[in-house]
Amino acid sequence: MIEAFVGLGSNIEDPGKQLDTACHRLAALPNTQLVALSAVYESPPMGPPDQPWYLNACVRLQTTQTPESLLGALLAIEESMGRVRHRRWGERCIDLDLLLFGDSRIQSDRLTLPHPGLYIRDFVLSPLSDLVGSEYVMPNGVDIGTLLAGCTTGSLMKRDIQLPTVDSLGIAP
Ligand code: ATP
Ligand code: CA
Ligand code: CA
Repeated sequence: MIEAFVGLGSNIEDPGKQLDTACHRLAALPNTQLVALSAVYESPPMGPPDQPWYLNACVRLQTTQTPESLLGALLAIEESMGRVRHRRWGERCIDLDLLLFGDSRIQSDRLTLPHPGLYIRDFVLSPLSDLVGSEYVMPNGVDIGTLLAGCTTGSLMKRDIQLPTVDSLGIAP
């Protein structure tokens, strides 16, 4: 089993519900277990400002899939949930980014690991920190707390929204 972390984001069509649905679909992936979920955060849009704020979260998976097959599975979940790509970093009902896959380092047309935005996005680092702790040292040799201190937006807020519990994820949403 390899440990993988997936970042979730949504800013349209009831984002809290979208994160909930995505968690159920991630938990149902073959040869994969969803073992932990972060808190939910709200963040301003990173891209065009004329779009709603985002809800973000992170989940921890254990999987025997390859990084490429897991990425394919994430993109298939996005598609099944009706994601439409309008514009770069534009509004989306669901975004699933493969942040880390064991200690894999990959640079291909389809897949970059670790995820290229990982070290500079507070809306990714904070939920990841919920799962591994702020002292966790990232593949670039820097701990999450230090990376978070270097993030400049300062607008991230923890929201009082509950993702499903790991135990409830076997049950259909
Ligand atoms: P960003 O990647 O900066 O967060 P985004 O999530 O809006 O932007 P998408 O349109 O969701 O970008 O994804 C574009 C492509 O990125 C995907 O089709 C996928 O092939 C590629 N990609 C490369 N590395 C990864 C990764 N680690 N996780 C998810 N997608 C990736
Ligand atoms: Ca993304
Ligand atoms: Ca993405």
